[in-house]
Amino acid sequence: MSSCNSGVDRQSAAPEALLRLLVEGQREQAMFVLDADGHVATWNAGAELMSGYTAEEALGRHISLFYPPEDVAAGEPERPLAAAAETGRVEDEGWRVRRDGSRFWAGVVTTALRDASGRLVGYGKVARDLSQRRFVQEALHEGPERFRLLVQSVKDYAIFMLDREGRVASWNEGAEAIKGYAAEQIVGESFRVFYPPEDLAWDKPATELEVAAREGRFEDEGWRVRRDGSRFWASVTIAAIRNEEGELLGFGKVTRDLTERRALQERALLDARRAAEAEAANRAKGEFLAALSHELRTPLNAIGGYVDLMALGIRGPVTEEQAADLARVRRSQQHLLGIINDLLNFSRIEAGQVRYSLETVQLAQVFDDVRPLVEPLALNKAIEIEWRICDEGAAAHADAPKVEQILINLLTNAVKFTDPGGGITVSARMDEGRAVLMVEDTGIGIEPDRLADIFEPFVQVGRSLASAHEGTGLGLAISRDLARAMGGDLVVESSLAEGSTFTLLLPRAETAAEA
Ligand code: ADP
Repeated sequence: MSSCNSGVDRQSAAPEALLRLLVEGQREQAMFVLDADGHVATWNAGAELMSGYTAEEALGRHISLFYPPEDVAAGEPERPLAAAAETGRVEDEGWRVRRDGSRFWAGVVTTALRDASGRLVGYGKVARDLSQRRFVQEALHEGPERFRLLVQSVKDYAIFMLDREGRVASWNEGAEAIKGYAAEQIVGESFRVFYPPEDLAWDKPATELEVAAREGRFEDEGWRVRRDGSRFWASVTIAAIRNEEGELLGFGKVTRDLTERRALQERALLDARRAAEAEAANRAKGEFLAALSHELRTPLNAIGGYVDLMALGIRGPVTEEQAADLARVRRSQQHLLGIINDLLNFSRIEAGQVRYSLETVQLAQVFDDVRPLVEPLALNKAIEIEWRICDEGAAAHADAPKVEQILINLLTNAVKFTDPGGGITVSARMDEGRAVLMVEDTGIGIEPDRLADIFEPFVQVGRSLASAHEGTGLGLAISRDLARAMGGDLVVESSLAEGSTFTLLLPRAETAAEA
């Protein structure tokens, strides 16, 4: 029966051989024998596992091989041997060195081996690797202390213990910093002193401990009182502490001072509310202005109408002097109407009342529509306007009347700020996927440091109030608002005495393929 042939022949094996097999195969412990001089005479599997040395490497080597150099220098390897020789058996613990140089904490029993005549023939050694146990012991020994020191030195959190009745049992630096009590002033006192009167009135402190005891934990944010009576906004966690039997020992309490954070949050909230109020006020102002300008226009139009009736002589004959006066009234009426129209326009935009219907706008068409309106103005001042379509079919995705309104604004300005005999060029092209309308004049130009201001409402650059030209300073503000609302922009370049260039950028019209 070949399957039963392996292993030891139980019938013939001597007890010594069996014992030897047992020891050699033992993996949990290092078991080996030293000769009387301390050289390794036998080696087992456990010794190899623990030390990393094979039997061939270990046999014949002196026991000092396994000790750290400083222990060897201190005579350590011989000490347990001598002690064992004297008493028969010693137990000790200490560092040992593995073949790879790493150390482990060994628990070793050394036994003196004597022959029948009592002569010392060697030593038996049984060793166990206790590194793990030592580690745990160290952690237990040093851990709580280290932990205590850590808690002690934490400054941002008050960390302290309460006994079961809520008396302060420990105190850290953070608690002192936050609450203003030194440990000796507060330990032993009830934690009720940290609560404001309104919370004491309904016994909040006791309630908190009850909840913590019942549910294991209590969390809260609220006002607490410092030693000097001032209040701080606290975030509080109370945890019940129980022993292994479940008996309540007391409470751990962690408190954070969130006063600053709360103030920041409140400020942010206030800012947001103010911004919302400001926006609402702005909107209301816009709505009011829009309504007002609308109401002003009606009587003003009536004035214009009656002035015309009189000027035409329908109400009876008009003297030359009267005709001149009526013409002045008419001019003033139109000026006022212009201002009111601007105001109405601007306030409607600001109040978000303007609707945009975006479509494909052929820029050549815009030119055709605007041209008859501005050419007369230019002619009046002997200014020549050149209309240039650089890209055939240039088209924007925009609201055509708004584009025209912007272009009229830019061109009336160009005429207004260009001296007689000057020239203006209007061009349309496509650039980097955008439709571009440009109005270049050879006029007075704008001071570089005022360039950014001219788009602000009611700004008229470079003129004292007395010499202010006719206008409201709203034209460019309106134009840029409109341009941006359509997904475009309005920008300016200018040099004093050389002229200005206003560029209206608009999203290009969708191509047929995209549509
Ligand atoms: P308004 O023309 O009613 O004063 P705008 O908003 O249209 O208001 O223009 C604001 C100011 O920008 C003008 O008062 C003028 O100082 C300056 N400005 C506008 N266009 C030009 C231009 N083409 N050349 C020089 N200055 C200009």
